[in-house]
Amino acid sequence: MYNRRKFLKISAAGASIIAVSKSAFAKSINKTTTPVLPIVISTWNFGIQANQEAWKTLSTGGRSLDAVEAGVKIPEADMKNHTVGRAGYPDRDGHVTLDASIMDEFGNCGAVAAIEYIAHPISVARLVMEKTPHVLLVGEGATQFAVEQGFKKEDLLTPESKAAWQEWLKTEKYAPVIDIENKQEVPGDHHNHDTIGMLAIDAKGNISGACTTSGMAFKLRGRVGDSPIIGAGLYVDNEVGGATSTGVGEEVIRNAGSFLVVELMRQGYSPEDACKEVVNRIIKKKPDTAKQIQVGFLAINKKGEHGAYAIQKGFQYAVCNQDTQDTLINGKSFYNL
Ligand code: ASP
Repeated sequence: MYNRRKFLKISAAGASIIAVSKSAFAKSINKTTTPVLPIVISTWNFGIQANQEAWKTLSTGGRSLDAVEAGVKIPEADMKNHTVGRAGYPDRDGHVTLDASIMDEFGNCGAVAAIEYIAHPISVARLVMEKTPHVLLVGEGATQFAVEQGFKKEDLLTPESKAAWQEWLKTEKYAPVIDIENKQEVPGDHHNHDTIGMLAIDAKGNISGACTTSGMAFKLRGRVGDSPIIGAGLYVDNEVGGATSTGVGEEVIRNAGSFLVVELMRQGYSPEDACKEVVNRIIKKKPDTAKQIQVGFLAINKKGEHGAYAIQKGFQYAVCNQDTQDTLINGKSFYNL
């Protein structure tokens, strides 16, 4: 049962990862050992709970697509999470606009961008994929489609989000800086970004991915990040693996980030090395900008080997399979200060 599983905090160091639990023993996970399938991985510490939900599907022989949709709906519904879903911080005009994408093992994909009044954009993205001939619906059209599909239209601006926005309005400085530390657990902290990207391989070996966010807090109205852009915030190729990203979406889009990670894995790169190569490319193109921003990639290959790499330290990802449950891994980074 999940509540009996040990919470393992893992730090990536060198060729192997040491998982130290609070119990008397420590377990060594060799990166070269192929993880047991099914498996699910996702970005940031809120990925732990999201993985638990996805695991219910994966552990009972379900499809990875169902697992990733169910998994990311957990942070989407979390009223304390101001960076994903229904309690996300608004744009600079006070509108909560959400972005999401989903991709299955057949290369089908669907996405919504700048959708308003709908609490679960990931489920709308799935219906765009399954019920329309299109890939991406935006703004009012995306909301209209969701309502037609039976989704409830609701005001998503929570009192906390409104208060944070009003605080921001006092200066009204348009400087959408992305925090470079993960301060998610600090109460009252106005953390201004973080996306859940989730990748899962089911018992049949099929890979799916999902990505959902409220994007940059207090962004320009109409701004869309990488998360709903297939190939930027998410990409899956069932022959090779999948990748997803978090951080400053503009840099991810400029470099077709997740697509590139998957293509590098196709050429034989490990998941971590593929993520690292793309992060290095972002840094090389804009070395001065890169010092000030965070971008992180997370990837899994067909065998279930996983890895991550970010510009700044602090990027964590959660892993769940039958061997490593409730596990949080500190991804490596270019800057380590
Ligand atoms: N990638 C997201 C965006 O740019 C934000 C984040 O993950 O921090 O919208």
